[in-house]
This record gives sequence, C-alpha cells and structure tokens, in this order.
Amino acid sequence: MTKNTFYLDMDGVVADWESAAAEFLGRPMRDPDTLTHYRNTVEEWAKIKTQTRFYRDLPLMPRVAELVHLARQYRDTLGWELLFLTAVPAKDDIHWAFYDKVMWAQEHFPDIAVHFGPHSYDKCKHCKAGDILVDDRPDNCSQWRDAGGIAFKVNANDLGSVLDLIAADLRVRVDLKNQRDIALDLV
Ligand SMILES: [Mg+2]
Repeated sequence: MTKNTFYLDMDGVVADWESAAAEFLGRPMRDPDTLTHYRNTVEEWAKIKTQTRFYRDLPLMPRVAELVHLARQYRDTLGWELLFLTAVPAKDDIHWAFYDKVMWAQEHFPDIAVHFGPHSYDKCKHCKAGDILVDDRPDNCSQWRDAGGIAFKVNANDLGSVLDLIAADLRVRVDLKNQRDIALDLV
C-alpha cells in the first residue's frame, strides 16, 4: 500500500509571514474577514521584494511546536511521510526564495524536507488520495480536496483554528491502527 503524506504549508502555517510583513510595511495586515487569506497590494509586494532575503528570517508561528508535534505523529506512529509543501512567488521574482525556505526549514525543523509546488496553483498536483494538507489559503485547500485529499485550513493566522481538528483526526487513525494491530496479533 502506498504511504500517505502529511503536508505542512510554510507561510501562514509554520512561518509567520503575516506578522513579518505587517512589521515591515508598518500596518496591520488582517482582513476583517478572518476566513479570507491575507493579501498584499501590488505596491506592498513590490516593497517586500526589495528585501531579497525576506523568507530567510521569518519568525515562527505561535503554537507551531504543537502543530509539528501532531504532524510528526502521523510519520512516527502511523508511518506516513511528512513534508513541507510550499510555493514561490507567482512571478518568480524573489530569487532567494527556494534557498531561503530550505534554509529556514533546516534551521527550525531539520527532520522535515521541503517540497515546492513550485507555485501555489501547483500544490494540488502533489496530492494522492487521502493525503493531508495544512494550509492557510482557501484556494489551495479547495483544490486539494478536489484532488482527493483532506485539507485543514488555518484561519486568521492562528493555528488554534486547526490544532483540535488535527488532534481528533490523529486520534481516530491511531485507534484504528491499534485495533488493527490487536486483530493481527490474534490471527
Ligand atoms: Mg501559506
């Protein structure tokens, strides 16, 4: 049986892009609709892109340790693969993005490799039936579900919106595995 994969998006899931951009641009970023993915204006993007190493120094998301702890259990208890799945800017104009995202991940979570869409709309091409994605973009989550995967959407730049859901999903899978292991012992 092919292994399933648990994918963690990076910006807005493990790396706090929104806080870093808010600080750099000097304005609060959050859209009043908490379900909407935060977006920069064209002018703001142009300003951010002058910071060619912006991805290298992003802060960690609050509660990221809890999220990664859950994600590692899919790998270590259930035998899944665990990967980051991230994207580079659509216009390919932050040339350090690939390198800096890998460096960032290696610094904070050296046991989790980085795969690239490479662009946001390519992410769903990585999905096998039943694979899980944690992501903050509604379009990435809906495309993932359309491809046969399960998506947990982070809302309002707050991991608290998904931690309980992922913990519950994990619990069901671990219970099933334990029951299966007991049944195999009885054969
Ligand atoms: Mg994201």
